[in-house]
Amino acid sequence: MTSVGDFITSLPVLGNPVCDAHAHLDMLEDPARALANAALAGIALVATVVDLSEDERTFLELDGWLASAARMLTADGHVGVELPEVRIVVGAHPHNASEFTPTVAARMREATRLPRVSAFGELGLDFHYDNSPRDVQRAAFREQLSMAHELAVPIVVHLREAHDDGLAILREQGLPAAGCIIHCFTEGAATAERFLEAGCTISFAGPITFKKAVALREAAEVTPLDRLLVETDCPFLAPEPFRGRKNEPAFTVLTAAAVAAAKGISTAEVALAALSNARKLYLRG
Ligand SMILES: [Zn+2]
Repeated sequence: MTSVGDFITSLPVLGNPVCDAHAHLDMLEDPARALANAALAGIALVATVVDLSEDERTFLELDGWLASAARMLTADGHVGVELPEVRIVVGAHPHNASEFTPTVAARMREATRLPRVSAFGELGLDFHYDNSPRDVQRAAFREQLSMAHELAVPIVVHLREAHDDGLAILREQGLPAAGCIIHCFTEGAATAERFLEAGCTISFAGPITFKKAVALREAAEVTPLDRLLVETDCPFLAPEPFRGRKNEPAFTVLTAAAVAAAKGISTAEVALAALSNARKLYLRG
């Protein structure tokens, strides 16, 4: 059996703890082990997504994952390593917009009273897969956005091949004062600038490490430190050199290192900025 963190020594050392601003812990094979690995890699905050139209087991199991992660670390002799703080993002993914019923909306409202729930998401538009009709996606996006205004929570936005439509809706209804994160950003500098101008925070994921992602690295270059985040979107999109494998929060350090390289600054600066931005967005109040 492999011990916790076998691969951690192969990761870049950032010189400062960092966040994983967007993960799906419930989709990982072993969420507890992933949390233990994240602790060893220096991940101080993980925001994990719960789609209330699909599955809510994170609410039931998160404490258990954290407890067994702590046991794994101790068993492997890692004493005094702190586990990441975990926050929960609740919403209905654009794929499931057709399932965004009044019941799901009511559950989102209720969930904001739970101490770990920090944001609504991922909500938005996905015109690549079109799993729900576009009008239904737009309506679900609008309604979740207006709930975020009303309840003063930040939003985590998923946009795929729908950036113009997404930005139009954000402009029309306004950004929630608590913040708006464009997660797993994959566009170039010009699009980044439009979202930055609107007041959004841009979150970079594994694709920024891919060899061909020149335009995406230009987007990181133009994104100011106080408006950027790093994330995995795990289990999807593992960064290089782990591309094609299952992704997990520890790999955020590779994305942070790629963002730092694109900006020509130290990894510690990117890690510090991303973590402090994530704390401002996810740990309010
Ligand atoms: Zn996601």
